[in-house]
Amino acid sequence: MMMRLDGESYQAIADKAGISRQRVQQLLSPPSYVRKLVKKRANDKCQKCGLLLGQSGHVHHVGNKEEDYNDVDNLLYLCPSCHRKEHDNLASKKELANKYFTATEARIELGLSRWDFNTRIERGMLPAPTFIDTVMRGSVELKVRYFDENWLRIARAILDNPVLKRG
Ligand SMILES: [Zn+2]
Ligand SMILES: [Zn+2]
Repeated sequence: MMMRLDGESYQAIADKAGISRQRVQQLLSPPSYVRKLVKKRANDKCQKCGLLLGQSGHVHHVGNKEEDYNDVDNLLYLCPSCHRKEHDNLASKKELANKYFTATEARIELGLSRWDFNTRIERGMLPAPTFIDTVMRGSVELKVRYFDENWLRIARAILDNPVLKRG
């Protein structure tokens, strides 16, 4: 059985899979030697706010790739409060992804190549993205562009209109 957290709580997964929360936790949480390593690496402190944790620390998965799911580099040691915030963040990012088109989805909708799509936006031949989110990948800051229905409607109108197209 392959399950991924994907920003969801153990409880949410348990409800979907029809098994107990304890069982999900058992299946998904890292083995105890990994937990110990993560705890030790963090000097027993929350890696977000620095709070000294004792026995109350949570181990959080940063990514959800199968092959390195319980890899130490993929785990953070967090206090319960920062842990909850991480999951709230993930949930809101998921919500964004449901509500908006990603750049890839938007350009496929318009039938444009990646280069064409990006160039047209850069040159103002297509409107700016509806929303730009900043995400951290390790220490690298990435800009993720989102496009809504209205953006697509305007973009289609521009592309369908030869006069606007030339401008
Ligand atoms: Zn914290
Ligand atoms: Zn977590």
